[in-house]
Amino acid sequence: MNSKDINENLVEFNYSINERDREKKNGCKGSAVWFTGPSASGKSTIANELEILLFNKGYPVVILDGDNVRKGLCSDLDFSLNSRTENVRRVAEVAKIIKNSGFIVLCCLVSPLIEQRKLARSIIEKNFIECYVKTPLDKCMERDPKGFYKKARNNQILDFTGVNSIYEESLNSEIVVQTELVDERKAAAKIYKLMKEKFLIF
Ligand code: ADP
Repeated sequence: MNSKDINENLVEFNYSINERDREKKNGCKGSAVWFTGPSASGKSTIANELEILLFNKGYPVVILDGDNVRKGLCSDLDFSLNSRTENVRRVAEVAKIIKNSGFIVLCCLVSPLIEQRKLARSIIEKNFIECYVKTPLDKCMERDPKGFYKKARNNQILDFTGVNSIYEESLNSEIVVQTELVDERKAAAKIYKLMKEKFLIF
């Protein structure tokens, strides 16, 4: 049986709890914030602050972190651009399920290509915020909290974004955070404010 036959034999179950029911109960819309930026730009640090803000206000929130998913869901993937696209596709599909369950999902993935961010946006669809964590590469290298840039420069890591693999700057993000200008708390507060303005949280 090929995948076309399989798809023709699928009928979705019509569940009783709907989007409006979830919004009323949770005080928010199911939504996704997609953090993009090179390693050490600050994606996880800012997502962590945003999660604290949302959690303390009682909103249901989940984080999908690139480094964590690579230990399970995506453990078969390497860091080639094709594998990174598949990594983005899988995380976006999971994020969509979480979002459609009424949760706020924060996704932290380098997602270095514009095409990959477009793919995530097209999978997750509405209530999607792309947040470009804009930190100059020399600053990321100076931070290097995990020592990865040093290893990549010594050719101990291949396909490392910013050293031997490309990062395409984000041009159409809903929000840009310049971490040299704002600390992680201010960055998180800025995203929180945007979520309010977009009526994703009430
Ligand atoms: P990424 O998830 O993008 O790989 P991390 O959040 O793991 O990056 O690491 C970012 C590093 O930069 C942390 O050590 C963090 O403390 C530091 N940092 C310094 N200033 C900021 C800032 N304004 N926003 C976020 N991180 C910052």
